[in-house]
This record gives sequence, structure tokens and C-alpha cells, in this order.
Amino acid sequence: MRSDSEFDLIARYFSWPAPAGMLGVGDDCALLPVSHGFQMAVSSDMLVEGQHFFADVDPADLGYKALAVNLSDLAAMGARPVACTLALSIPRIDHDWLKAFSEGFQTLSRQAQCPLVGGDTTRNPAGVVISVTVMGEVRRNHALRRDAAKVGDDIWVTGHLGSAELALRMLQGRLPADAARLAAARPVLERPWPRLRFGQRLAGMAHAALDISDGLLQDLGHILRASQCGADLTFDRIPAAPVLDGLDEALRRDMILAGGDCYELCFTASPKRREQIQATARLLDVPVSRIGVVVRGDALRVLDADGNPLPHGPGGYDHFRAAGTP
Ligand code: ADP
Ligand code: MG
Repeated sequence: MRSDSEFDLIARYFSWPAPAGMLGVGDDCALLPVSHGFQMAVSSDMLVEGQHFFADVDPADLGYKALAVNLSDLAAMGARPVACTLALSIPRIDHDWLKAFSEGFQTLSRQAQCPLVGGDTTRNPAGVVISVTVMGEVRRNHALRRDAAKVGDDIWVTGHLGSAELALRMLQGRLPADAARLAAARPVLERPWPRLRFGQRLAGMAHAALDISDGLLQDLGHILRASQCGADLTFDRIPAAPVLDGLDEALRRDMILAGGDCYELCFTASPKRREQIQATARLLDVPVSRIGVVVRGDALRVLDADGNPLPHGPGGYDHFRAAGTP
């Protein structure tokens, strides 16, 4: 009986036709083509109820986001999406929930041309657990690896930072909710747009890249450790989301430097590439900011307008410390 339901669910919500050249849902494995001269980029991210999302989150947003955070990893590698799989564990069969969830997932899957080709469906009384795996392709030796930053590189970020963190803190009750700010910030938290096209353009142009999921300083720290170098950032150049305007300065700084869940790209590139990067950003209508430079050593410093390191404020700067600053 249970397996009947499981197959019904798969047929009803997760069996979308696979594109030509692929074998999709229905067999023991999916089959995917790999283009000559390319490598396959593979990444998985899990979302666990209570830890990564609220139990009462809109299931359409959840379906969208489960795929979005994975696509963001492909973007950060410079890879083009090829296909994805979805492993889903749910406490009970709730058709309204499943319909909305699968539609949210499918919306982004279509937009990003990343078809769902397989997965697994199980029951978990403890709550919803979602694991998505994405597969993409990137030209051999063009992938944007974390260990590829070079001393003298510019450090860039896309978009504006801090909105998702602001929305999260308001929804968690850690900050007093302010209806106007929450309305502006919430879509960034719930429907992040992975920088796929821009990431693909960066492949072969930039050196190192990653997507900001745990906060700028912590994530940039991963690049610096992997590449064995340090960085000087200029705080005033870091693009803050306008929705943070007028907030307490220490809080604002913390959300910009340590705010997670934002899925913008942070990347390093030779200064010779500045014009090419700016032109690509204009072409794709992606805001980019040059926020600092890769230096020798292992310290990550954030400098004020006069070039002095910003003092570590209380709270929120642990990431900063973790990134190697004494
Ligand atoms: P198996 O017995 O090989 O584990 P399943 O019965 O779990 O296969 O799944 C049957 C088919 O449905 C497989 O092709 C599998 O990839 C696919 N599938 C199962 N769950 C999902 C899901 N949530 N989304 C997409 N495809 C799924
Ligand atoms: Mg299975």
C-alpha cells in the first residue's frame, strides 16, 4: 500500500519528461550526456525542517529554494546546469503541499533549464527533509575553484548583501519586525536567484569563486585558506542592500559581513580583467562591486575609508576571527 502511494506520488508530482538525449525518471538510474572537453560538476545540498526552513514555510517557496541553493553552487563553479535529482522525505501525504512544492521546484527547474531526472521518495515522521543534487558541465580547466585565487587579484561580489539575513532575523523574532523592511527583504530569503549566467561567463575569466551562503567573511575565508593567501577589503565598497539603510551601524555591518543565505557570488580575478568583468555584468544586468584585493599572508582585514582595520564589534565578528584575523 505504501509503495503504491510512493509510486503514485512520483508519477503525479515528479515525473516530468526528460529532454532529448537524457533518460529521466522511471529507470534505475538517469542517463546524462557529457560534452566532449567538459567536466561534470556535481553538488548536493540538504534542507531540514526546523533547521533550514520553518515548518510553515510556503511549500512553493521551499521547492524553489531547494533547487536554488544547489544551482547557486553550479553558478559558483562556473558550470551550466544539466540536470538534477530530488530526494524527499515527508511525514505524511499532503497533496496541497506536494503540488505547491513540486510547482515551485519546477518553476526554477524550467527557468534554469535543469530538468529533474530522478530521486527518491520516503516517509520520515520527524519532518520534511529535502536533498537535491545538481549536475552541470564546465569546460575542462575553466571551473572556478576555491584554491585558485592569486596574490594581487581583485575581489568582487555580485548584488547587494544583507537582505536575507535581515528577513531571517525578523522572522525568527531576533529583530523587531518592521513590515516595510520585511516585505522588501523577504523575497531575497525565500526566492534567491542563482547567478547562473554570470557564473558561466566568469569561467575562464575569473580565478576563484564561491557563493555566499554563510556570510561574506566566512565564505571568503574558505577561498583564502584554500588559496593560501589573505585579503584586504574596503568596507565602504561592500555593496549593502538598501533595505539596511538607517539601521544601527554595528548591526548593519554585521549583516553585511556575516549575513548568510544570500547566494551572491564572491570571486577573485586579475586586475587585467576589470573591463571585461564590468562589460559582462552590464550585459547580464548583474550589479558587481570590486571590494578588495588578495594579499600575501593569511589575514582577512576589513578596512575603513582611511585604510585602518575596523575594530571587531561585539557579536557577529566570530566569522571574521575564524577567517584568520588575529
Ligand atoms: P529504486 O527502487 O530504484 O530506488 P524508486 O522506486 O525509488 O527506484 O524510484 C522510481 C523512479 O522514480 C526512479 O527513476 C527514481 O529516480 C524516481 N524518483 C523517485 N522519487 C523521485 C523524486 N522525488 N523526484 C524525482 N524522481 C524520483
Ligand atoms: Mg528509491
